[in-house]
Amino acid sequence: MSTPTPPYPSDAPASAALFARAGTVLPGGVNSPVRAFRAVGGTPRFTDHASGPYLVDADGRRYVDLICSWGPMILGHAHPEVVDAVRTAAGRGFSYGTPNEGEVALAEELVERVPPLEQVRLVNSGTEATMSALRLARGFTGRPVVVKFAGCYHGHVDALLASAGSGLATFALPDTPGVPPGTAADTLVLPYNDVAALEAVFAEHGDRIACVVTEAAAGNMGVVPPLPGFTEALLRTTRAHGALLVSDEVMTGFRLSRSGWLGLEGPYPDGRAPDLFTFGKVMGGGFPVAAFGGRADVMAQLAPAGPVYQAGTLSGNPVAAAAGLTTLRACTAEVYARVDEVAATIRDAASAALDDAGVAHAVGRAGSMFSIFFTSADADGSGADDGRPGRDDAIGAAPVVDFAGAKRQDTAAYAAFFHAMLSRGVHLPPSAYEAWFLSAAHDDEAVGTVLEALPHAARAAAAVTSATA
Ligand SMILES: *Cc1c(COP(=O)(O)O)cnc(C)c1O
Repeated sequence: MSTPTPPYPSDAPASAALFARAGTVLPGGVNSPVRAFRAVGGTPRFTDHASGPYLVDADGRRYVDLICSWGPMILGHAHPEVVDAVRTAAGRGFSYGTPNEGEVALAEELVERVPPLEQVRLVNSGTEATMSALRLARGFTGRPVVVKFAGCYHGHVDALLASAGSGLATFALPDTPGVPPGTAADTLVLPYNDVAALEAVFAEHGDRIACVVTEAAAGNMGVVPPLPGFTEALLRTTRAHGALLVSDEVMTGFRLSRSGWLGLEGPYPDGRAPDLFTFGKVMGGGFPVAAFGGRADVMAQLAPAGPVYQAGTLSGNPVAAAAGLTTLRACTAEVYARVDEVAATIRDAASAALDDAGVAHAVGRAGSMFSIFFTSADADGSGADDGRPGRDDAIGAAPVVDFAGAKRQDTAAYAAFFHAMLSRGVHLPPSAYEAWFLSAAHDDEAVGTVLEALPHAARAAAAVTSATA
């Protein structure tokens, strides 16, 4: 059988057969909702294998991967050094239930890369990291209330599934059944980037607030970085009221810089820093590894050093730790420079193609992470000098500043854009509310495929926006 080449037909028979089979044993045919393509329609592509910048599906079609497993695959798929490290570790046993040196080495790497981190605990998912960080913040402060921002996603932690972004935003569910009112009652949801709302809530509830949890730069409502001064306002306000700041760097950590968003925006005035951090995605190199950590005096409250309980049968798993450590060690300055470069190339080309096709859009960006909002919030897509709040400096642009703005986008235009890219061999995230992710393995050939596809996709989006205008 010859290898298929783009443009691919819109049906995908082998994936469709697998999806039908999956639907009988997996709810919706998937193990995580956004993968089901409900936001864009059509048949999700089942990956057969992946290598470097490419996914190859069950029909043998090759796609340039702009999902990168939602962030982790910063070195590309099946990176030879990581494959070797995993093979070696696996040969020494999969899980011990005792301490092992690999988990210590991974923790040391994290602490070395993120200056405010003094201690960490390894867990198995970003959800577990934020859930545990909240318990620790509540245990440390003896206070019940958690403040979060609309459109920020912190995993499927019960208390944080109030007005969350990601899959929920896509499915337009304001809340989820299964979370009792009492569980969400101690969660306060504020608009992102709104310092006045933050100060008001602290003025009223300050002595009951355990922590503020925020995405260091939001990436789950599309990419919406903090406006200049927002992170400092969070640091100042939490400190003034004896609450902790939990910076969720699960998506941004070790992706945007050696440390994460912190490395682009920090260090902050007066030596201030978030009290706790959460990490995941890149630090596991594609394996289920995540972490939370921060100030030693706060972490000392964690069992067995302190009274706040937290545990995990597979936490610190030696095979996963080897994958994470090898990935991080391979994330050199050159890797970050390459990811920045290809992200800028694709971002600028996408915006130019949409301009040429007359499609209103705005580019949200935080370091190498970006997304395109099909909205007229900022018609030139630059976020610069258009009289709206925003920034156009080296680290981010924010023409859309909060969830209300993000929800103004034309998701039908995105769906048309998405499918045109897919048929030309480029797999974008199957939702308008997700960031586009690059890797250092995205070579000139892969980037070239994306650049060729963009004008076709921009015209497909234009056909939708002009029909509804
Ligand atoms: C992905 C993500 C999580 C959840 O991580 P999982 O490993 O999917 O549980 C939490 N916070 C942020 C900011 C994320 O992007």
